[in-house]
Amino acid sequence: MHSFHYTSDSLHCEGVDLETLSKEVGTPAYVYSATTIRDNFRSLHKALAPLKHRICYATKANSNLAILRLLVEEGAGFDIVSGGELFKVLRAGGRADQCTFAGVGKMPHEIEYALSQGVYCFNVESEGELDLINFIAGKLGCKAPIALRVNPDVDTPTHHYISTGKNKNKFGIGLDRAEEVYTHAASLPHLTIRGMQTHIGSQILTATPFVEAIKKLTPLIQSIRKRHALEFFSIGGGIGIVYEEALASGDPAWWKERKNGAQLSAEDYASAVLEPLQQLELPIFLEPGRSLVGNAGVLLSKALYRKETPKKNFLIVDAGMNDLIRPALYQGYHEIVPLQRHPNRALEKIDVVGPVCESGDFFAQERMLSRMEVGESLAIMSTGAYGFVMGSNYNARPLPPEILIEGKKVTVVRRRQSWEDLVRGEIIT
Ligand SMILES: *Cc1c(COP(=O)(O)O)cnc(C)c1O
Repeated sequence: MHSFHYTSDSLHCEGVDLETLSKEVGTPAYVYSATTIRDNFRSLHKALAPLKHRICYATKANSNLAILRLLVEEGAGFDIVSGGELFKVLRAGGRADQCTFAGVGKMPHEIEYALSQGVYCFNVESEGELDLINFIAGKLGCKAPIALRVNPDVDTPTHHYISTGKNKNKFGIGLDRAEEVYTHAASLPHLTIRGMQTHIGSQILTATPFVEAIKKLTPLIQSIRKRHALEFFSIGGGIGIVYEEALASGDPAWWKERKNGAQLSAEDYASAVLEPLQQLELPIFLEPGRSLVGNAGVLLSKALYRKETPKKNFLIVDAGMNDLIRPALYQGYHEIVPLQRHPNRALEKIDVVGPVCESGDFFAQERMLSRMEVGESLAIMSTGAYGFVMGSNYNARPLPPEILIEGKKVTVVRRRQSWEDLVRGEIIT
């Protein structure tokens, strides 16, 4: 569930009319619902209540300081993938001893920084990384806490760019080699073994692959525990969200055809994984990103031009792939809805595209949408995760602002970049 809804044909986020807001802050602009994030966090927390657990929010999904702060308030830990993310979490008031550090390419200065801040655990993805962490910990005169990311080799029904749990992926250590690598880790003097981690991919809409991963890893966990004291098992993130939703349906018949109803709710997820996780008798960590913030954000944009050609019609809007790259990168689907709904307007088949000089710069192709006129504004839905954070300055376009709403309270939590921001740090020789 989320807090975006129409009230007398005007789209609202919580208690705020988005058309009015878009005029005040300009477009494009990201808008987030604090209540939705809190609700998502609390539902997952509640669904997992029978289990000793910690939710380490996957910071990479959306690392705005205000959102990190909100999650600190909710009691989240954080899963980070860079020194920069740790820096941001600390700046937002998070604690390093509640952070796990993931990623295949941790750099020496990042490892040093994370150690000096007292990060809870490094989730290690290769033997080379173990050796480097051991070396740096030795240099600093401390012991580095580690877990191994084990790849259970399960199939995940998701886009191949975000599937990570197969042996052919760059992620993790193969199930067949894990024992050996744990033994190697135990032989290194400056490491402490803390746990085991896995993460099978993202945007997964059935609990089956998670259960399969836990079952495949269970014998390994039992065997490792005989020799090394484990403090946790992390099942990673990856819970999918529904990108297609009823809010957009202008035409019920068209809506019916869509493959809706595939939601993996916190309750469904928990009811499937609780039992196999309980059998491990270990504290469980989760690293959800998308499922906490994805449906809590929208990207507001305005129609600049209508372009009608014999083959296709285009609505050219002021947001581009530099603001939101998911459609171009992952063929990501996002619902597009008008800020002012006109129920009597006809539907038309249209491509919604941005101003960037790339054919991949689109938000929808041949989509049936209620006709929109130049100057009217729209919301690209479910863009709270992997939206702003993947933004760039391509085409010298300033990054859009980010706005956080809670009830009727509106806070600009990141200013729109200026043209001056675009040249900051550049030098003419
Ligand atoms: C990306 C990532 C996550 C979060 O994935 P979501 O699909 O956003 O929940 C969690 N853990 C690791 C190691 C990741 O790389």
